[in-house]
Amino acid sequence: MAGVGDAGGLRRQRLLTHYDKSRNSYVEGIMEPQCKKRKTKAISTFTWELMPVLSDEELCEVELLEAYAAPIINKRQTSCLIKQLACIYPLNSLPHIKRVRTCRDKNTNHSLEIIICLLRDLNCTDVPNGEISLSDLFPDGKDIGIGLGEPFQVMIPACQPLTRPQFEAASQHWPTTFHENKQVTNALRGHLFNTEERAKVQTFMEKAIKAAKLGKEIGMEPVGAVVVNPATDEVIAVGHDCRNGPNPLLHAVMVCIDLVAYGQGGGAFNHDRYPNCHFKSEASFSGDHAFNTGKPLHPSEDHSPTGVPVNGLPYICTGYDLYVSREPCVMCAMALVHSRIRTVFYATSSPDGALGTKYKIHTKKDLNHHYDVFKGLLEGECQFFS
Ligand SMILES: [Zn+2]
Repeated sequence: MAGVGDAGGLRRQRLLTHYDKSRNSYVEGIMEPQCKKRKTKAISTFTWELMPVLSDEELCEVELLEAYAAPIINKRQTSCLIKQLACIYPLNSLPHIKRVRTCRDKNTNHSLEIIICLLRDLNCTDVPNGEISLSDLFPDGKDIGIGLGEPFQVMIPACQPLTRPQFEAASQHWPTTFHENKQVTNALRGHLFNTEERAKVQTFMEKAIKAAKLGKEIGMEPVGAVVVNPATDEVIAVGHDCRNGPNPLLHAVMVCIDLVAYGQGGGAFNHDRYPNCHFKSEASFSGDHAFNTGKPLHPSEDHSPTGVPVNGLPYICTGYDLYVSREPCVMCAMALVHSRIRTVFYATSSPDGALGTKYKIHTKKDLNHHYDVFKGLLEGECQFFS
């Protein structure tokens, strides 16, 4: 469907600068961007494309169900018909479906059509080729059929659409409700951020890459991470991977979360031997906010009544964004769930990555926090050094 196609299209919009495996070298300007959407000159100066890492549910095609609808003969009876039908066929499993739609065929003398029921709601399983009469749909002699025209079969979306491509596909069949995530829509269209925003996120990823290079110089895995407060654009913590030191769990993301905690008066690990891993303490933050104020893109579905832990403080990374040069592993992805990160940007995928490659921890329904993930930011640069 369109959504998958769009995402694939984004992926195919190759980098101007890329790593050429056959030559084992970094090549500049070999491939022309295929993107038709690149209209402004400013955007074409960026050598990367951001891709949203969507859940399987967001990427899949809209599932359809067979249903019966009928024309409403007298428009004035509409609300009455809706009420009566809600009693006979409540459609409880389909709260996203709009019961009534305007008639698409302009040549008929009725203007509205209404969903009566799902095929599976009918007791009679042997409906001959969809040919059905109102008396079949209202077998108990209910007189509701009076206000309705001849029933006809339609396909209606089984679930509420999650992305605009899904919404557009669903609406081809029957109107549904849709709570749009504009970031995801824009990302799927290939214009997630404006030029200024792209420049900004690139700056933060450059800091993460710089940290990765500094880590590599002292024999660490070349992974760097930066935590930013998007409300103020302040860098809260910068860290590189330290797993090759005494503590093998010190992946770049774990280092960064711990550094954020240090800034808030907490922290668990000793980072003294790594001068390029540093944090900004809460006391030095600009403005009058004691804690992060960024709003989550996806509302955090916290099961605690207030969304605030028992000590009264927000979770460590609430409202913050993470920039990391390489896709986090399962441990790090879960640590980001626990610390309530808002958005993760990563450059390159990892073979064991938990935010798109092996798993999509950020979208797991049975976890109580979800975050948005975008990949591809300065991908070429990270492929080069890691
Ligand atoms: Zn990790």
